[in-house]
Amino acid sequence: MTGRQTPLEQSPAARRVFVCHGCGACCRWPGIVRLTDEDVAALAEFLGIDEETFIRQSTTLAPDRRSLILDMPAAEPCRFLTPDNHCRVYPARPRQCRDFPNTWSAPADYGLECRGEWRTAGQLPDDLPEGRP
Ligand code: SF4
Ligand code: SF4
Repeated sequence: MTGRQTPLEQSPAARRVFVCHGCGACCRWPGIVRLTDEDVAALAEFLGIDEETFIRQSTTLAPDRRSLILDMPAAEPCRFLTPDNHCRVYPARPRQCRDFPNTWSAPADYGLECRGEWRTAGQLPDDLPEGRP
C-alpha cells in the first residue's frame, strides 16, 4: 500500500531526504501491501506471536498468488494504522512501506494527497514525526 514508508529516507540518487508529515494517507490508499518472508518474521516477532499465527490472522494471498499480502477489507485503511495515524508495527513495518516513496510510482491522484516533501539534508525540520507510517 501505500504503504507506508520511512519518515526520513535517504534518496542516494538525488541526495535528498523525504520528510513525512504523518497524515496517514498512504496507509489508506486502496491497494495491497506485499509481504516478504523477512517481513512476516519481523512482524510476527514484533507482535509476539508465531509466524503461523500471524499469517492466519493478518495475511491473505495476493491476487496474483505470488506472495502474501496484509489482509485488509476493501476501502479500509491498513489494519495496523491507528486512529491518530500511527503505524502500530512501525519498527517492523514491511519493506514496501519502508521504501515509500523512493521506489514507488504512485498514481498522480495519490501523489496529490501526500503531504510529505523532499528536502536537502540541511533543511530538515526539528519536529520530525516519530512512528508515523
Ligand atoms: S504497515 Fe504501517 S506503514 Fe505499512 S501501510 Fe500499514 S500502517 Fe502504513
Ligand atoms: S505525508 Fe505522504 S508519506 Fe507521509 S503519511 Fe502522508 S501520504 Fe504517507
